[in-house]
Amino acid sequence: MADKTLSIVEETPRASAIIHAPPKGKMAFSGDGPDRLLCGSCSNTLAEGVSDGQLFGVFIECPECGALNDVNA
Ligand SMILES: [Zn+2]
Repeated sequence: MADKTLSIVEETPRASAIIHAPPKGKMAFSGDGPDRLLCGSCSNTLAEGVSDGQLFGVFIECPECGALNDVNA
């Protein structure tokens, strides 16, 4: 399992591409892949068990700090 710190985007992408992460303690996504995704601003865990390319094209809004994380970078 590898931790990947995501990069923050300043401009808001189209709404359909945004995953709004659930409140504390829950993941935006949970699967059986090798990676964990961490917020690029506050290091909160946003998703775990992610495989390469699995969340391609989406952005995850951090429930802790509100930053938009670019999963594609
Ligand atoms: Zn955050």
